Amino acid sequence: MLPDIEKLFELQAADKEIRKLHEEVAALPKRVAAIEEKLAGTKAHLEKARTAAKGDEANRKKFESAIQDLQGKISKYRDQSLDVKTNEQYKALLHEIQFAEQEIRINEDRILEVMVNVEVREKDVKAAEAELKAEQVEIEKEKEEARKVTAEDQAKLAEWNAKRDALRRGILEDLLRHYERVMKFRGSGLAEAREQKCMGCQVMLRPQTYNEVRIAEKVVVCESCQRILYFDPANEVKVEQQVAEAAHARRRPRPKADAPQAWFYRPDYGEEGEVLLVFTNGGDSSTRRVYEMHTGRQIGDVLGREGTYRLAFPEDLTDSAVRLNGHWDEEEMDEWGSEVPSHALDVLHNDLRAAQREHHAPKRKEHATPPAEHTAAS
Ligand SMILES: [Zn+2]
Repeated sequence: MLPDIEKLFELQAADKEIRKLHEEVAALPKRVAAIEEKLAGTKAHLEKARTAAKGDEANRKKFESAIQDLQGKISKYRDQSLDVKTNEQYKALLHEIQFAEQEIRINEDRILEVMVNVEVREKDVKAAEAELKAEQVEIEKEKEEARKVTAEDQAKLAEWNAKRDALRRGILEDLLRHYERVMKFRGSGLAEAREQKCMGCQVMLRPQTYNEVRIAEKVVVCESCQRILYFDPANEVKVEQQVAEAAHARRRPRPKADAPQAWFYRPDYGEEGEVLLVFTNGGDSSTRRVYEMHTGRQIGDVLGREGTYRLAFPEDLTDSAVRLNGHWDEEEMDEWGSEVPSHALDVLHNDLRAAQREHHAPKRKEHATPPAEHTAAS
Protein backbone atom coordinates (compact mmCIF):
# COMPACT_ATOMS: atom_id res chain seq x y z
CA MET A 1 0.00 0.00 0.00
CA LEU A 2 1.25 3.51 -0.81
CA PRO A 3 2.57 5.36 2.27
CA ASP A 4 0.28 8.31 1.46
CA ILE A 5 -2.73 6.04 1.51
CA GLU A 6 -1.62 4.48 4.78
CA LYS A 7 -1.60 7.97 6.27
CA LEU A 8 -5.03 8.69 4.81
CA PHE A 9 -6.22 5.49 6.43
CA GLU A 10 -5.19 6.77 9.84
CA LEU A 11 -6.66 10.17 9.02
CA GLN A 12 -9.98 8.60 8.10
CA ALA A 13 -10.05 6.70 11.41
CA ALA A 14 -9.38 9.98 13.24
CA ASP A 15 -12.05 11.82 11.24
CA LYS A 16 -14.64 9.17 12.04
CA GLU A 17 -13.74 9.18 15.73
CA ILE A 18 -14.02 12.99 15.83
CA ARG A 19 -17.42 12.86 14.16
CA LYS A 20 -18.64 10.24 16.64
CA LEU A 21 -17.45 12.32 19.61
CA HIS A 22 -19.11 15.48 18.26
CA GLU A 23 -22.39 13.60 17.92
CA GLU A 24 -22.13 12.19 21.44
CA VAL A 25 -21.50 15.65 22.91
CA ALA A 26 -24.47 17.07 20.99
CA ALA A 27 -26.81 14.30 22.16
CA LEU A 28 -26.23 14.73 25.92
CA PRO A 29 -28.08 18.04 26.50
CA LYS A 30 -31.08 16.59 24.66
CA ARG A 31 -31.30 13.77 27.17
CA VAL A 32 -31.13 16.16 30.11
CA ALA A 33 -33.79 18.39 28.49
CA ALA A 34 -36.13 15.42 28.13
CA ILE A 35 -35.92 14.65 31.86
CA GLU A 36 -36.34 18.32 32.72
CA GLU A 37 -39.53 18.37 30.72
CA LYS A 38 -40.83 15.39 32.67
CA LEU A 39 -39.87 17.13 35.91
CA ALA A 40 -41.84 20.24 34.92
CA GLY A 41 -44.88 18.04 34.27
CA THR A 42 -44.67 16.47 37.74
CA LYS A 43 -44.27 19.93 39.34
CA ALA A 44 -47.38 21.20 37.58
CA HIS A 45 -49.33 18.13 38.69
CA LEU A 46 -48.24 18.64 42.32
CA GLU A 47 -49.22 22.31 42.19
CA LYS A 48 -52.65 21.39 40.89
CA ALA A 49 -53.14 18.75 43.60
CA ARG A 50 -52.14 21.26 46.30
CA THR A 51 -54.51 23.92 44.96
CA ALA A 52 -57.34 21.39 44.91
CA ALA A 53 -56.59 20.44 48.55
CA LYS A 54 -56.79 24.13 49.54
CA GLY A 55 -60.15 24.41 47.76
CA ASP A 56 -61.47 21.45 49.77
CA GLU A 57 -60.49 23.09 53.04
CA ALA A 58 -62.28 26.34 52.07
CA ASN A 59 -65.41 24.42 51.08
CA ARG A 60 -65.48 22.52 54.36
CA LYS A 61 -65.32 25.80 56.34
CA LYS A 62 -68.08 27.27 54.21
CA PHE A 63 -70.42 24.30 54.87
CA GLU A 64 -69.63 24.32 58.61
CA SER A 65 -70.47 27.98 58.97
CA ALA A 66 -73.72 27.43 57.00
CA ILE A 67 -74.68 24.74 59.55
CA GLN A 68 -73.96 27.14 62.43
CA ASP A 69 -76.18 29.80 60.85
CA LEU A 70 -79.00 27.30 60.38
CA GLN A 71 -78.73 26.10 63.98
CA GLY A 72 -78.96 29.75 65.09
CA LYS A 73 -82.11 30.19 63.03
CA ILE A 74 -83.70 27.04 64.48
CA SER A 75 -83.21 28.16 68.11
CA LYS A 76 -84.61 31.58 67.15
CA TYR A 77 -87.75 29.91 65.66
CA ARG A 78 -88.12 27.78 68.81
CA ASP A 79 -88.04 30.90 71.00
CA GLN A 80 -90.63 32.57 68.76
CA SER A 81 -92.89 29.49 68.90
CA LEU A 82 -93.42 30.08 72.63
CA ASP A 83 -95.10 33.43 71.89
CA VAL A 84 -97.35 32.50 68.94
CA LYS A 85 -101.06 33.24 69.19
CA THR A 86 -102.55 31.17 66.34
CA ASN A 87 -102.25 27.66 65.07
CA GLU A 88 -101.26 29.00 61.59
CA GLN A 89 -98.35 30.95 63.03
CA TYR A 90 -97.19 27.86 64.90
CA LYS A 91 -97.39 25.71 61.76
CA ALA A 92 -95.46 28.28 59.76
CA LEU A 93 -92.63 28.30 62.32
CA LEU A 94 -92.59 24.51 62.47
CA HIS A 95 -92.23 24.47 58.67
CA GLU A 96 -89.28 26.89 58.84
CA ILE A 97 -87.59 24.67 61.47
CA GLN A 98 -88.07 21.54 59.31
CA PHE A 99 -86.67 23.35 56.30
CA ALA A 100 -83.57 24.49 58.25
CA GLU A 101 -83.01 20.95 59.60
CA GLN A 102 -83.14 19.61 56.06
CA GLU A 103 -80.55 22.22 54.97
CA ILE A 104 -78.27 21.15 57.84
CA ARG A 105 -78.39 17.52 56.62
CA ILE A 106 -77.52 18.61 53.08
CA ASN A 107 -74.50 20.55 54.37
CA GLU A 108 -73.42 17.61 56.54
CA ASP A 109 -73.46 15.37 53.46
CA ARG A 110 -71.38 17.91 51.59
CA ILE A 111 -68.80 17.94 54.38
CA LEU A 112 -68.57 14.13 54.26
CA GLU A 113 -68.06 14.29 50.53
CA VAL A 114 -65.25 16.80 50.96
CA MET A 115 -63.61 14.61 53.63
CA VAL A 116 -63.51 11.65 51.25
CA ASN A 117 -62.02 13.91 48.58
CA VAL A 118 -59.37 15.14 50.99
CA GLU A 119 -58.12 11.61 51.59
CA VAL A 120 -57.79 10.95 47.86
CA ARG A 121 -56.07 14.27 47.30
CA GLU A 122 -53.63 13.78 50.14
CA LYS A 123 -52.54 10.52 48.56
CA ASP A 124 -52.23 12.28 45.20
CA VAL A 125 -50.11 15.08 46.67
CA LYS A 126 -47.87 12.60 48.52
CA ALA A 127 -47.37 10.50 45.37
CA ALA A 128 -46.54 13.59 43.30
CA GLU A 129 -44.09 14.77 45.97
CA ALA A 130 -42.32 11.40 45.98
CA GLU A 131 -42.19 11.33 42.20
CA LEU A 132 -40.77 14.83 42.09
CA LYS A 133 -38.09 13.92 44.59
CA ALA A 134 -37.08 10.82 42.59
CA GLU A 135 -36.95 12.79 39.37
CA GLN A 136 -34.86 15.52 40.96
CA VAL A 137 -32.35 12.90 42.10
CA GLU A 138 -32.37 11.38 38.62
CA ILE A 139 -31.82 14.67 36.85
CA GLU A 140 -28.91 15.56 39.10
CA LYS A 141 -27.37 12.19 38.31
CA GLU A 142 -27.95 12.66 34.57
CA LYS A 143 -26.51 16.16 34.65
CA GLU A 144 -23.47 14.97 36.54
CA GLU A 145 -23.04 12.09 34.08
CA ALA A 146 -23.47 14.45 31.13
CA ARG A 147 -20.88 16.83 32.58
CA LYS A 148 -18.47 13.96 33.10
CA VAL A 149 -18.97 12.42 29.64
CA THR A 150 -18.78 15.83 27.97
CA ALA A 151 -15.51 16.62 29.73
CA GLU A 152 -14.11 13.22 28.76
CA ASP A 153 -15.29 13.64 25.17
CA GLN A 154 -13.80 17.12 24.97
CA ALA A 155 -10.47 15.77 26.19
CA LYS A 156 -10.64 12.92 23.66
CA LEU A 157 -11.60 15.40 20.95
CA ALA A 158 -8.60 17.57 21.72
CA GLU A 159 -6.36 14.50 21.49
CA TRP A 160 -7.90 13.31 18.23
CA ASN A 161 -7.81 16.80 16.72
CA ALA A 162 -4.10 17.06 17.53
CA LYS A 163 -3.53 13.61 16.00
CA ARG A 164 -5.56 14.63 12.98
CA ASP A 165 -3.62 17.86 12.48
CA ALA A 166 -0.32 16.00 12.67
CA LEU A 167 -1.55 13.43 10.13
CA ARG A 168 -2.78 16.11 7.76
CA ARG A 169 0.63 17.81 7.78
CA GLY A 170 2.23 14.60 6.49
CA ILE A 171 -0.04 14.19 3.44
CA LEU A 172 0.38 15.78 0.01
CA GLU A 173 -1.81 18.84 -0.28
CA ASP A 174 -3.69 17.85 -3.46
CA LEU A 175 -4.39 14.36 -2.21
CA LEU A 176 -5.56 15.70 1.16
CA ARG A 177 -7.92 18.16 -0.50
CA HIS A 178 -9.38 15.41 -2.67
CA TYR A 179 -9.85 13.09 0.32
CA GLU A 180 -11.52 15.78 2.41
CA ARG A 181 -13.92 16.77 -0.33
CA VAL A 182 -15.10 13.18 -0.88
CA MET A 183 -15.18 12.54 2.89
CA LYS A 184 -17.44 15.53 3.35
CA PHE A 185 -19.98 14.38 0.79
CA ARG A 186 -19.82 10.61 1.18
CA GLY A 187 -18.83 10.01 4.79
CA SER A 188 -15.62 8.26 3.76
CA GLY A 189 -12.76 9.26 1.47
CA LEU A 190 -11.17 5.87 0.96
CA ALA A 191 -12.56 2.68 -0.48
CA GLU A 192 -11.21 -0.80 -0.93
CA ALA A 193 -10.96 -2.24 -4.41
CA ARG A 194 -12.04 -5.84 -4.14
CA GLU A 195 -13.24 -8.38 -6.69
CA GLN A 196 -12.83 -5.82 -9.52
CA LYS A 197 -15.17 -3.54 -7.65
CA CYS A 198 -15.11 -0.30 -5.61
CA MET A 199 -16.43 -1.33 -2.19
CA GLY A 200 -17.42 2.29 -1.53
CA CYS A 201 -20.02 2.61 -4.26
CA GLN A 202 -20.19 -1.05 -5.41
CA VAL A 203 -19.49 -0.10 -9.01
CA MET A 204 -17.31 -2.40 -11.14
CA LEU A 205 -13.89 -0.91 -11.93
CA ARG A 206 -12.30 -1.02 -15.35
CA PRO A 207 -9.65 -3.80 -15.49
CA GLN A 208 -6.89 -1.25 -16.03
CA THR A 209 -8.00 0.80 -13.03
CA TYR A 210 -8.23 -2.30 -10.87
CA ASN A 211 -4.71 -3.35 -11.86
CA GLU A 212 -3.34 0.09 -11.13
CA VAL A 213 -4.78 -0.11 -7.63
CA ARG A 214 -3.27 -3.56 -7.12
CA ILE A 215 0.17 -2.49 -8.28
CA ALA A 216 -0.02 0.54 -5.95
CA GLU A 217 2.47 2.71 -7.80
CA LYS A 218 0.25 5.77 -7.88
CA VAL A 219 -2.91 7.07 -6.31
CA VAL A 220 -6.05 5.87 -8.12
CA VAL A 221 -9.56 7.15 -7.50
CA CYS A 222 -12.88 5.49 -8.29
CA GLU A 223 -14.31 7.12 -11.40
CA SER A 224 -17.78 6.72 -10.04
CA CYS A 225 -17.62 7.91 -6.42
CA GLN A 226 -14.21 9.62 -6.44
CA ARG A 227 -13.05 7.74 -3.35
CA ILE A 228 -9.33 7.01 -3.21
CA LEU A 229 -8.87 3.30 -3.85
CA TYR A 230 -6.61 0.85 -2.06
CA PHE A 231 -6.08 -2.86 -2.34
CA ASP A 232 -5.78 -5.29 0.55
CA PRO A 233 -4.33 -8.66 -0.56
CA ALA A 234 -5.55 -10.30 2.68
CA ASN A 235 -9.15 -9.60 1.74
CA GLU A 236 -8.75 -10.79 -1.82
CA VAL A 237 -7.86 -14.31 -0.61
CA LYS A 238 -10.86 -14.27 1.69
CA VAL A 239 -13.16 -13.11 -1.06
CA GLU A 240 -11.95 -15.80 -3.44
CA GLN A 241 -12.67 -18.37 -0.75
CA GLN A 242 -16.07 -16.88 -0.15
CA VAL A 243 -16.86 -16.94 -3.84
CA ALA A 244 -15.80 -20.58 -4.04
CA GLU A 245 -17.89 -21.41 -0.98
CA ALA A 246 -20.85 -19.47 -2.28
CA ALA A 247 -20.71 -21.35 -5.57
CA HIS A 248 -21.36 -24.54 -3.61
CA ALA A 249 -23.71 -23.02 -1.14
CA ARG A 250 -27.46 -22.87 -1.53
CA ARG A 251 -28.73 -19.84 -3.32
CA ARG A 252 -29.63 -16.75 -1.40
CA PRO A 253 -33.25 -16.64 -0.21
CA ARG A 254 -35.28 -14.05 -2.06
CA PRO A 255 -36.60 -11.26 0.23
CA LYS A 256 -40.40 -11.36 0.42
CA ALA A 257 -42.15 -8.40 -1.16
CA ASP A 258 -44.97 -8.40 1.41
CA ALA A 259 -42.82 -8.84 4.54
CA PRO A 260 -43.77 -6.46 7.40
CA GLN A 261 -40.13 -5.39 7.68
CA ALA A 262 -37.75 -4.57 4.84
CA TRP A 263 -34.01 -3.80 4.93
CA PHE A 264 -32.32 -1.92 2.11
CA TYR A 265 -28.78 -0.96 1.25
CA ARG A 266 -28.20 2.43 -0.40
CA PRO A 267 -24.73 3.34 -1.70
CA ASP A 268 -25.61 6.97 -2.30
CA TYR A 269 -27.60 8.30 0.64
CA GLY A 270 -26.89 12.03 0.49
CA GLU A 271 -23.98 13.15 2.64
CA GLU A 272 -23.95 9.88 4.54
CA GLY A 273 -22.91 7.85 1.50
CA GLU A 274 -23.51 4.19 2.23
CA VAL A 275 -26.36 3.36 4.58
CA LEU A 276 -28.68 0.59 5.67
CA LEU A 277 -32.37 1.47 5.87
CA VAL A 278 -35.02 -0.54 7.64
CA PHE A 279 -38.74 -0.01 7.26
CA THR A 280 -41.32 -1.64 9.51
CA ASN A 281 -45.01 -1.66 8.71
CA GLY A 282 -47.42 -1.58 11.64
CA GLY A 283 -51.15 -1.14 11.15
CA ASP A 284 -51.83 2.11 9.32
CA SER A 285 -48.33 3.47 9.66
CA SER A 286 -44.69 2.61 9.14
CA THR A 287 -41.31 3.55 10.62
CA ARG A 288 -37.89 4.14 9.15
CA ARG A 289 -34.46 3.78 10.73
CA VAL A 290 -31.20 4.68 8.97
CA TYR A 291 -27.79 3.26 9.91
CA GLU A 292 -24.30 3.95 8.70
CA MET A 293 -23.27 0.99 6.50
CA HIS A 294 -19.92 0.07 8.04
CA THR A 295 -20.20 1.10 11.69
CA GLY A 296 -23.94 0.40 12.10
CA ARG A 297 -24.27 3.76 13.83
CA GLN A 298 -27.82 5.14 13.70
CA ILE A 299 -28.29 8.30 11.66
CA GLY A 300 -31.07 10.57 12.95
CA ASP A 301 -34.13 9.42 14.88
CA VAL A 302 -36.74 6.79 14.08
CA LEU A 303 -39.16 8.38 11.62
CA GLY A 304 -42.81 7.37 11.59
CA ARG A 305 -45.30 8.14 8.81
CA GLU A 306 -48.81 7.15 7.87
CA GLY A 307 -49.27 4.33 5.40
CA THR A 308 -47.13 1.32 4.53
CA TYR A 309 -43.47 2.10 3.91
CA ARG A 310 -43.69 1.85 0.11
CA LEU A 311 -46.26 4.66 0.12
CA ALA A 312 -44.82 6.57 3.08
CA PHE A 313 -41.14 6.74 2.08
CA PRO A 314 -41.04 6.78 -1.74
CA GLU A 315 -38.01 9.10 -1.79
CA ASP A 316 -35.83 6.46 -0.10
CA LEU A 317 -36.66 3.62 -2.47
CA THR A 318 -34.56 4.73 -5.40
CA ASP A 319 -33.27 2.45 -8.15
CA SER A 320 -29.97 2.11 -6.32
CA ALA A 321 -31.62 0.58 -3.23
CA VAL A 322 -30.74 -3.10 -2.79
CA ARG A 323 -33.30 -5.13 -0.83
CA LEU A 324 -31.72 -7.33 1.85
CA ASN A 325 -32.81 -10.30 3.94
CA GLY A 326 -33.14 -9.65 7.66
CA HIS A 327 -35.81 -9.33 10.31
CA TRP A 328 -35.68 -8.13 13.90
CA ASP A 329 -38.60 -7.14 16.11
CA GLU A 330 -39.14 -3.44 16.57
CA GLU A 331 -38.66 -3.93 20.33
CA GLU A 332 -35.31 -5.59 19.77
CA MET A 333 -34.24 -2.77 17.46
CA ASP A 334 -35.22 -0.24 20.14
CA GLU A 335 -32.95 -2.10 22.53
CA TRP A 336 -30.04 -1.77 20.10
CA GLY A 337 -29.97 1.95 20.91
CA SER A 338 -27.87 3.98 18.50
CA GLU A 339 -26.00 1.11 16.86
CA VAL A 340 -26.78 -2.09 15.00
CA PRO A 341 -25.00 -4.86 16.97
CA SER A 342 -22.23 -6.63 15.10
CA HIS A 343 -24.11 -9.95 14.79
CA ALA A 344 -26.95 -8.22 12.93
CA LEU A 345 -24.55 -6.10 10.90
CA ASP A 346 -22.70 -9.27 9.81
CA VAL A 347 -25.96 -10.84 8.63
CA LEU A 348 -26.79 -7.75 6.54
CA HIS A 349 -23.27 -7.36 5.13
CA ASN A 350 -23.12 -11.03 4.18
CA ASP A 351 -26.50 -10.83 2.52
CA LEU A 352 -25.46 -7.75 0.57
CA ARG A 353 -22.34 -9.55 -0.64
CA ALA A 354 -24.45 -12.55 -1.60
CA ALA A 355 -26.89 -10.26 -3.46
CA GLN A 356 -24.00 -8.64 -5.32
CA ARG A 357 -22.42 -11.98 -6.17
CA GLU A 358 -25.75 -13.23 -7.42
CA HIS A 359 -26.14 -10.11 -9.46
CA HIS A 360 -22.77 -10.45 -11.14
CA ALA A 361 -22.93 -14.20 -11.66
CA PRO A 362 -23.63 -14.66 -15.38
CA LYS A 363 -25.65 -17.85 -15.10
CA ARG A 364 -28.37 -16.36 -12.86
CA LYS A 365 -31.33 -15.20 -14.85
CA GLU A 366 -33.41 -13.41 -12.22
CA HIS A 367 -32.47 -9.92 -11.17
CA ALA A 368 -34.17 -8.72 -8.02
CA THR A 369 -32.09 -5.57 -7.85
CA PRO A 370 -31.26 -3.08 -10.57
CA PRO A 371 -27.65 -3.10 -11.82
CA ALA A 372 -25.50 -1.03 -9.49
CA GLU A 373 -23.27 0.19 -12.34
CA HIS A 374 -26.01 2.32 -13.85
CA THR A 375 -27.44 3.89 -10.76
CA ALA A 376 -24.59 4.56 -8.38
CA ALA A 377 -22.74 6.51 -11.06
CA SER A 378 -25.47 9.12 -11.25
ZN1 LIG B 1 -16.51 4.06 -6.00
